Amino acid sequence: MKRRSQSVNSIDLMAGMLLICDQHPQRQALRKCLMCGVLMCSECMAFGLQFGLIMCEDCVGRLLVLSWS
Ligand SMILES: [Zn+2]
Ligand SMILES: [Zn+2]
Repeated sequence: MKRRSQSVNSIDLMAGMLLICDQHPQRQALRKCLMCGVLMCSECMAFGLQFGLIMCEDCVGRLLVLSWS
């Protein structure tokens, strides 16, 4: 029984090793949010990176609100 699976399901088996994005279960997480520690894929990081922050959208949003009030 040889099964060459390149499906995303194989990632599930390695979940302990691979970091999976909190928002996108099928994507690999690259970083953790510096504020809340949530795992983020490149897309999830994109918003924060606009501001030079390694943070999730939530935390960036909170930070922006704080700095604007
Ligand atoms: Zn966060
Ligand atoms: Zn994501």
